[in-house]
Amino acid sequence: MAKKITDKPGKYTGSGQGKESQINLEVEVGSDQIIRVNSLDRYAPASLADNAFQKMAQKIVDQQSIDVDVVSGASETSRGIIEGVKSALTKAEVDFAALKENSAQTSTTTKREITVDVAVVGAGGAGVAAALAARQHGVSVALLEKTISPLGASTFAGGMFAGDSQQQKEQDQVVSKKWLYNEYMDASQGYMNSILVRRIIDESGKTVDWLNENGAIMKLVDAGTGGSFDHIGMPATLHGYQEGGTKAITKLIEKFKALGGQMYFGFAGQRLLQDDQGQVIGLIAQSDEQELQVNTKKVIIATGGFGGNAEMRKEYLGDVSTQGQVLQNTGDGLNMAWAAGTARHINGSTHYFWQTFSNEDIGKMAKLVGPGWMPLNALADFPNLRVNNRGQRYASETHALDFAVHGAELSEQPQQTEFVILDQAMLDKIKAGGTVAIEDHYGKWKNKREFYMEFNFPTDTDESIKREHEKTDFTTLLNQLSSTNVVFIG
Ligand SMILES: Cc1cc2nc3c(=O)[nH]c(=O)nc-3n(C[C@H](O)[C@H](O)[C@H](O)COP(=O)(O)OP(=O)(O)OC[C@H]3O[C@@H](n4cnc5c(N)ncnc54)[C@H](O)[C@@H]3O)c2cc1C
Repeated sequence: MAKKITDKPGKYTGSGQGKESQINLEVEVGSDQIIRVNSLDRYAPASLADNAFQKMAQKIVDQQSIDVDVVSGASETSRGIIEGVKSALTKAEVDFAALKENSAQTSTTTKREITVDVAVVGAGGAGVAAALAARQHGVSVALLEKTISPLGASTFAGGMFAGDSQQQKEQDQVVSKKWLYNEYMDASQGYMNSILVRRIIDESGKTVDWLNENGAIMKLVDAGTGGSFDHIGMPATLHGYQEGGTKAITKLIEKFKALGGQMYFGFAGQRLLQDDQGQVIGLIAQSDEQELQVNTKKVIIATGGFGGNAEMRKEYLGDVSTQGQVLQNTGDGLNMAWAAGTARHINGSTHYFWQTFSNEDIGKMAKLVGPGWMPLNALADFPNLRVNNRGQRYASETHALDFAVHGAELSEQPQQTEFVILDQAMLDKIKAGGTVAIEDHYGKWKNKREFYMEFNFPTDTDESIKREHEKTDFTTLLNQLSSTNVVFIG
């Protein structure tokens, strides 16, 4: 019998801090249980925030607890939801000790077993392509993904390079593989694995064609696309995802499922199963509700990097490493393989640095202005004066949008911190003429939109040009944020 948890059953509101804005919710509390958790915010149907909310609300009700695991890939949103529910339960004067006792009686984990020819762990670009290709070869495949919808690094990617895709051939724009190879090696100062680079370049055209055939629509775009000023005038090699990375991955997954592939979202691969000789015979994956045993002789591990694992970053990248963009990529695949006895070796690991506000900074700004802080990104995207926290100018400002280059430069600065400096004259120009008054990113593509691709967004230079021309007075926002230690006025 469930214990009484409150003398004041009813509906109570609560709120918590999510990743970019406050989360507002309502909890219906019965005398001996949490009945329902409803959102008071509007989310786009099936968006990550919507999925995360539904999932968290379900878990809290199913487990009668706020001590539940966060949704992988939406940890800050999940924590905001927990905080919100906790504040509502506190208003309802819930006895948390009694709630805990009730929760202990509602264990829901079950076990399930399946057998397939191939299991793929991780549904990013690598895993999805491997799973689909395997299925197209007629074998049975299970694809396991830790998160509840596609969220890997591949969903952020804008596209991929190729030397001899069908589109390049048709437009007479095939590039020399030797030139492409030299570009890669130069960009990495010779650090890249040359054999791998050659292989990637050799396979690149075929890969783009295959992606296109399977629904991830890619188009050959201008080399300077996305605002990469340094690349303007170079041969076109970038094939941009026309509907964004998330859509591209989703389309490939749909194709995989249509061909009979088995997709398991919300299942994290945990450990490989081996026989007495050490041969892999399967793996164990875990969701919130279920343990899944996959019997198979072939496991493809495609769990991305370890940018979300602070300990591994420190061990393999040293002290100068910042949190990765994809927090659920915690090196699980490497750890699973190592635990099964593979060589424990990382040869020349690289880390993709990204210039962005820290989560702490975003939290401070969101508290004051909600998602209204986001337009500040626009200011940081222009080649304004940048200095490190010693006041030293340390890089060419034209790298502002070349995020890989600028991120790497920033990673070398003390505390990986930079300040973007704007003067009143610049703010006045934006107020009078929009950001185009200080830098025209899109004019070059005005009459040939098909050659432009904005970072991870559908091609639409009209929209971008319109946005650049919007007269904006940033003064109010900057004044509002000046108490945060993120924005300084002086
Ligand atoms: C912001 C950004 C922009 C980029 N832009 C480009 C670009 O324009 N062009 C380009 O070529 N490259 C780009 N890159 C790099 C490129 O996106 C990555 O190199 C590539 O997507 C890696 O693919 P992946 O499948 O190995 O990893 P991911 O796409 O990260 O996939 C790994 C998947 O494994 C899942 N996973 C992790 N652990 C487990 C587990 N235990 N069980 C089950 N699943 C698990 C993760 O949730 C994830 O979905 C960009 C990267 C970033 C971060």
